[in-house]
Amino acid sequence: MEIKKIGVIGAGTMGNGIAQTAALIGCDVVLRDVQDVFVERGMKNIEKFLTKSVEKGKMQAAEKDAVLGRIKGTTDIKQLKDVDFVVEAVIEDLDLKKSVFKELDEVCRPEVILASNTSSMSLTEIAAATKRPDKVCGMHFFNPVPLMKLVEVIRGFATSDETVAATTALAKKMGKITVEVKKDSPGFIVNRIMIPHMLEAIKIVEEGIASIPDVDVAVKNGLNYPMGPFELMDLTGIDIAYFVTEYFYKELNKESKWVSPNLLKTMIRAGKLGRKTGGGWYDYSQK
Ligand code: NAD
Repeated sequence: MEIKKIGVIGAGTMGNGIAQTAALIGCDVVLRDVQDVFVERGMKNIEKFLTKSVEKGKMQAAEKDAVLGRIKGTTDIKQLKDVDFVVEAVIEDLDLKKSVFKELDEVCRPEVILASNTSSMSLTEIAAATKRPDKVCGMHFFNPVPLMKLVEVIRGFATSDETVAATTALAKKMGKITVEVKKDSPGFIVNRIMIPHMLEAIKIVEEGIASIPDVDVAVKNGLNYPMGPFELMDLTGIDIAYFVTEYFYKELNKESKWVSPNLLKTMIRAGKLGRKTGGGWYDYSQK
């Protein structure tokens, strides 16, 4: 089946990037969030990104208008009744994702693939909320979606080869490099590697070994990473790092290495979630 129209659920950091990337390859997009303000914020972010691309000479103004014209924001899930493919990008909460997939299963045509952008959670469990577990898989983009090249395609227990092939083909059409995660395991490849690295960085600060900026400077210049762990958490959301850590603890034998450091919990309690809240490990209120 040719994929001409894509549904994206959640217009936050990832959802608006996915909607933009899908519209850029010529697909019509239905971008759904739960409140008009969230839909509008998502649409504004897309417009801001595209305007910058025009200013930098990477895109013509007419193309920007065409891309924006292909994205329709809505709060009504029924608007997804005629889409050919869905990517879910609501917050990292398994119960919420299961209820969204149950709803999508009722609204979307039976042959439509329902993919989740989950950072860590079980595709098998998400798929079990539907009557089409063979057509559910992970399609894990990275932040910022229009710029980051990788997409992890993840198999749940019942995911069919056709679903993996169609999802991989769509990601490639979006200009992405894909990898297949053959087993449904918490955090897949990248986050299974990245979360321990973030937790160690927090523990170094908690133990008074070094400051936040010095940890970032050390990692960037000693390991040649483009961003330090604190800068990266501020970009991707400190809440996401926390949710994933808690999920790892639950799913990976309750090993002590996955216990959330107190400092991480304090950031969540203080509502300091990173750039999206104007502050996290660093302050962005003036930027
Ligand atoms: P976010 O908080 O920026 O956005 C989530 C959006 O989902 C919000 O706008 C919220 O209103 C909306 N939402 C909640 N319930 C909804 C529903 N029932 N229907 C439609 N929309 C709903 O979160 P995010 O950073 O975009 O993360 C989304 C998903 O992508 C998570 O699963 C996360 O783990 C994953 N992810 C995030 C990153 C990252 O760097 N932020 C990277 C890769 C994957």
